[in-house]
Amino acid sequence: MADKYPPSGCRWCGIAERSHYRQFTPLAGWHVHTVPTTEQILARMRARRAGVPADHRTARILVLDHARLLSYLKPSDEWVDVHCEPLDDPSQDRAHALVAAGALPDFEQHVT
Ligand SMILES: [Zn+2]
Repeated sequence: MADKYPPSGCRWCGIAERSHYRQFTPLAGWHVHTVPTTEQILARMRARRAGVPADHRTARILVLDHARLLSYLKPSDEWVDVHCEPLDDPSQDRAHALVAAGALPDFEQHVT
């Protein structure tokens, strides 16, 4: 399962094509594997090179960013989704690591 979330994973959920079948996400609904953008592939490769775990949390963060549904609230130092719900604690750590890896834009571009 090491490569369940490879750089070439689905645009909407990050799951590898061979194990994708049909998946549901709130963003895309029920969907089949969809080719990711070049930008997504590069971000996932940067994350991988920096040692950020390639799991469902990292995949979700990068998908949210791709869909412009990720924000950073500076006053509370928290990453939140489009409903202003904070990501869980492990995801907060992931998001910071992704910024450091150059896989997410710098904080300032996310300040709301
Ligand atoms: Zn998918």
